[in-house]
Amino acid sequence: MVDRLAEGFEGMTDLPLPLRRALPARLRPLSSRTEVVRRSPDGTAKFLVRLEDDLLVECVLIPEGARLTLCLSSQVGCPVGCAFCASGLEGVARNLAAHEILEEFLHGARLAGGRDRVTHVVMMGMGEPLLNYDAVTAAIRAFGVSARRITLSTVGLPDRIRRLAGEGFPVNLAVSLHAPDDETRDRLIPLNRKFGIGEVVAAARAYFEETGRDVTFEYLLIEGVNAGPAHAGRLARLLSGGHRNVNLIPLNPVEGLPFRPPPARDVEAFAAILRREGIPTHVRRPRGREIDAACGQLRRRHR
Ligand code: SAH
Ligand code: SF4
Repeated sequence: MVDRLAEGFEGMTDLPLPLRRALPARLRPLSSRTEVVRRSPDGTAKFLVRLEDDLLVECVLIPEGARLTLCLSSQVGCPVGCAFCASGLEGVARNLAAHEILEEFLHGARLAGGRDRVTHVVMMGMGEPLLNYDAVTAAIRAFGVSARRITLSTVGLPDRIRRLAGEGFPVNLAVSLHAPDDETRDRLIPLNRKFGIGEVVAAARAYFEETGRDVTFEYLLIEGVNAGPAHAGRLARLLSGGHRNVNLIPLNPVEGLPFRPPPARDVEAFAAILRREGIPTHVRRPRGREIDAACGQLRRRHR
């Protein structure tokens, strides 16, 4: 079943019917099922996975040229509660078990038309993957996808980043920084008050030193909060020294939250300052806006 990605025994049409009917009593089928599947005009497909206890998590398939990236969740909701994020609005219900994360992968692969179609996996859906460390590290090893094609996105728990570096499974690390200083970051990410931005950046450096993988810093641009030229200058100083790059992401507005993305010219100006300081910088196009593709947004409309 894992190879053929049929979603239940009824779907295994190459098996004789009596066997298909007898199997459920003998084997466990997947514990979860896909529910709402929404496709955006840009090709992005978002789907909800209904878990055994009726809770929902979100996943997204994102085509980009020859790439097909599958974005998976690590928790139901998120305990971190970042000010701009839909996933954290209602806290966390529970961690996903390793088999549930693997099932998200299988559902995504099936929707993509086969496991080989999925070229990249990102742990960037709902939840903070490093707060569900054991299940996440077990599941990503089980995908059968090379560590080079897997990215784990974290809000930045320094001790867990260092532990991940020693796993012998060197995934790409994306650190959600979103601010160039503690004052700004404390406002956006409550957890920052515990560690401080310096610790987070130091752990990211240690990750590079241990694994040889450049680290990506994710930086959401929010008008009037973190998107001015002074912020860009401070960010460039904070990240000086190489082996890192920056992804700038104009905020996807969340219903009920007061934040907006800055105008496109401010995004370009911010990128230009970083590039002038020698920091490789990409501006990420917002994908799947029509289908609430930023994390946690679709689930809020379905219960
Ligand atoms: N908890 C981890 C991984 C899940 S969040 C983390 O924070 O990195 C994945 C990404 O979605 C993060 O970079 C996060 O900042 C981003 N994100 C959250 N809310 C968003 C929004 N409203 N618009 C755009 N990106 C958002
Ligand atoms: Fe959690 Fe990441 Fe959302 Fe912050 S951005 S609340 S860490 S899912």
